[in-house]
Amino acid sequence: MSFIEVAGTKVDTRHYIGGKRVASPETFTNTSPVDGSFLGEISRGGQTEVDLAVAAANAAFKGWAALGPVGRGELLMKLAELVEENIETLAQLETMDNGSLLRSHRRGVMPRVAMNIRFFADWAINHLAHEKFETRGHTNNISWDPSGVCALITPWNAPLMLATWKIGPALAAGDTVVLKPAEWTPLSASFFADLTKQAGIPDGVFNVVQGYGREAGAALVAHADIARISFTGSVPTAKVIAKAAADNLTPLSFELGGKSPLLVFEDADLDLAAELAVEQYDNAGQVCLSGTRILVHESVASSFAEKFRERASKIKQGDPRDESTDIGPQIHQVHFDRIKGFVDRAKAEGQKVLMGGEPNEELGGLFFRPTLIQPSAGSEIVTQEVFGPVLCMQTFASDEQALEMANGTEFGLAAVVVSGIREHADKITKELVAGTIWVNCFFVRDLRAPFGGSRKSGIGREGGNWSFDFYADVKNTVVSPNGWKE
Ligand code: NAD
Repeated sequence: MSFIEVAGTKVDTRHYIGGKRVASPETFTNTSPVDGSFLGEISRGGQTEVDLAVAAANAAFKGWAALGPVGRGELLMKLAELVEENIETLAQLETMDNGSLLRSHRRGVMPRVAMNIRFFADWAINHLAHEKFETRGHTNNISWDPSGVCALITPWNAPLMLATWKIGPALAAGDTVVLKPAEWTPLSASFFADLTKQAGIPDGVFNVVQGYGREAGAALVAHADIARISFTGSVPTAKVIAKAAADNLTPLSFELGGKSPLLVFEDADLDLAAELAVEQYDNAGQVCLSGTRILVHESVASSFAEKFRERASKIKQGDPRDESTDIGPQIHQVHFDRIKGFVDRAKAEGQKVLMGGEPNEELGGLFFRPTLIQPSAGSEIVTQEVFGPVLCMQTFASDEQALEMANGTEFGLAAVVVSGIREHADKITKELVAGTIWVNCFFVRDLRAPFGGSRKSGIGREGGNWSFDFYADVKNTVVSPNGWKE
């Protein structure tokens, strides 16, 4: 069957290669985390489909590059408009496929998808620049040339948002794309492929190969004709991809996991701190940037914990399509079991569970209760990324201890600092190891800003100029004042 109907929308289950739909003889099953319902059988790609898609993207490259930023921009702006016209459809599809809140998809995520496309198209035309400078009268002219075919590999927790965060700059830079969406959430990418067609993006410029990471993903990142690999996902997968990329020396950009700290200092507004801490349960804890380690100054720990509990008790868990729901289900049974495994092992080790700590039996399915654990230092639950609604709370006695704890994991993706005194917050942020730090706020994201992780949380930065520095071939042409005929 080439089409399935999900939330009233017809979605093509085949790959999108060279502007055409291509089926595979084998399929994989897609189910909804919302209610466990069967959504459909999806074409399962491998080497053959990847070879076809890379060849199509290669064939389309010269023409797309030749359009220049303005020519490409016109088509990308049209694509952004089409996304905006289809926000409701995309929101419904994504919710059924990944279980995130419908209201977030409607009001935040899908408008952001359109913005990802529009922003980078506009940036390539109007803003892309590094400082121009002279060397002994010679001018250094820096340009960003299209580089070739980009392999984009994305996870399931914010499927289309994270995909377009890569597709936007790659296409705006004049590259062509082969996207491999996560196998648990293939639907929004397929629908988006139809929108690229409607927008008039030439055939082969954007391609989607669906399938498992170890099949379609592995074939794509090992392909010799790939100019860039941009991957968002877990650290173990990143290690496998880095090895495959090494054979071809393919440049790569990695946005990986985290175990970010949320620091509550003795001078913090504790109501704000509790509000920000509870926000870390968003998307059922399946957010790479979550501040999952709450570190609180011991002098305010009990007042903070009380406010946190009061605020957390108001969280409504349930059907993500319901406007009043705050937390939906986990993505998949495999992931649910992984989260439960972490919590069960913490309990078996004797770690103190302050809240939740078990599946929500009333709701059944893939709902895990928002959980707060008070772990001992070094335990698995406070060093490993759980990627579920599981927060840890620990106390510290001094700034030095807070920093040692905050920086004490292998990650460095983000940090949240809650303090009422600017000098204090400044002193702390200077010492924190993280790609993004939020002070008295969370999740304020600007596409002009660099985004990425330190240590094992990533390689490179994307956003604004940083995206183009990665996706394009950056060139410096040095022009002498001498030798001219005029
Ligand atoms: P994952 O690493 O299991 O999978 C991510 C993608 O990689 C999927 O499309 C998968 O099919 C593919 N893949 C798997 N094996 C592959 C291989 N051998 N070769 C090529 N591709 C392969 O991650 P996940 O479980 O889908 O996502 C959760 C992880 O993503 C968490 O660690 C989370 O922190 C991270 N994440 C990071 C960010 C960020 O911006 N830093 C954002 C979202 C999620």
